Amino acid sequence: MAGFKTLDDLGDVTGKVALVRVDLNLPMKDGSATDVTRVEAAKPTILELSEKGAKVILLAHFGRPKGARSSVLSTSMVQGDVERVLGKEIMFIPEVAGPVAAQAIGILSAGDIGLMDNVRFWPGEEANDAEFAKAIAANADFYVNDAFSAAHRAHATTEGLAHVLPAYAGRAMEKELKALDAALGTPQPPVAAVVGGAKVSTKLAVLENLVGKVQHLIIGGGMANTFLAAKGVDVGKSLCEHDLTDTANAIMARADESGCTVHLPYDVVVAKEFAANPPSLRTCNVHEVAADEMILDVGPLATEALGDVLKTCATLVWNGPMGAFETPPFDAATVALARMAAALTQEGSLISVAGGGDTVAALAHAGVTDDVTYISTAGGAFLEWMEGKELPGVAALSK
Ligand code: ADP
Ligand code: MG
Repeated sequence: MAGFKTLDDLGDVTGKVALVRVDLNLPMKDGSATDVTRVEAAKPTILELSEKGAKVILLAHFGRPKGARSSVLSTSMVQGDVERVLGKEIMFIPEVAGPVAAQAIGILSAGDIGLMDNVRFWPGEEANDAEFAKAIAANADFYVNDAFSAAHRAHATTEGLAHVLPAYAGRAMEKELKALDAALGTPQPPVAAVVGGAKVSTKLAVLENLVGKVQHLIIGGGMANTFLAAKGVDVGKSLCEHDLTDTANAIMARADESGCTVHLPYDVVVAKEFAANPPSLRTCNVHEVAADEMILDVGPLATEALGDVLKTCATLVWNGPMGAFETPPFDAATVALARMAAALTQEGSLISVAGGGDTVAALAHAGVTDDVTYISTAGGAFLEWMEGKELPGVAALSK
């Protein structure tokens, strides 16, 4: 991983103005946030800078206003939630640049925190307009990016500012980059990747990147059905992308060439209807799936064997549940494998990094959120990183 500066590299910041890009795109209901995880993630950086005496100016997007002001998409909607999490009052600034912003920043004392309005109200944000970035930067001394979840976008406040101000990774960004580097950048081998979820089509780039990098590729979830079908298995009524069987075969061939073992389930949990604990529920060999049955989870024998694979590995990267985990008992393989990964991590034999919207929920459901090495809540940025893409927001910090 290319080097980047962190808050440890800052000199005396007393009275200096820090522009801090954070993720405040909170899920809302009836005017207040239903989940403040993103604010909690940014809290250490914000409070550290505030305690060091900087004037901390938060920059964030909120929803998709498409370059125009919208009262319901103002970041003032989340001001109360941010204040509650930080335990501090903050000042709302209805601009990001210009005399009003300058004046507001002038009023703040060392250690105070300001929240600028939604950066996406201005078309220059998503266009990554250099003049827009310069106008924001004109009121500040340095830039801190603590929003890994927005780092896959080259926008003015996620990328452009790093070119016009001294740039630093915030604490959450630093933690995320270190975890991701340990998982796929410069991991300790052998490395296992678990890729599950609904469809191959959404994770093709991920699979193609992983086969060249990991020693064990564990495929579960609905996408395993496409791989099984490619090998000539009749998967019945299962979710399966039959048009992608050639692609699946190509991925398996590439894995062979790179010395990557692909693990597919050999027993599966099936049912005739997709419902909780359906009467037709049974476990069978993959070759025994009936025409009117659906594969909804990896079977217990395969799951146990996968646990044994993890025991031989030093690193695990995980995206996508092994089965339809929202509906019992199709959560069994995901839960068992998650608990195995957590136990090995606690024993110190495995570095385990996971991410993805449903994966985060599945690991929480398994009760292992605090027992794996790192869980990324970054969504799109995490997936692009899994695809091996360079993230513009990260690259700009690394210069
Ligand atoms: P993530 O959000 O972690 O990247 P995905 O969105 O790719 O994960 O996939 C999650 C979804 O895949 C879940 O809703 C789960 O129910 C579904 N899924 C997993 N296994 C199966 C299966 N065998 N059949 C149908 N759906 C499945
Ligand atoms: Mg998902």
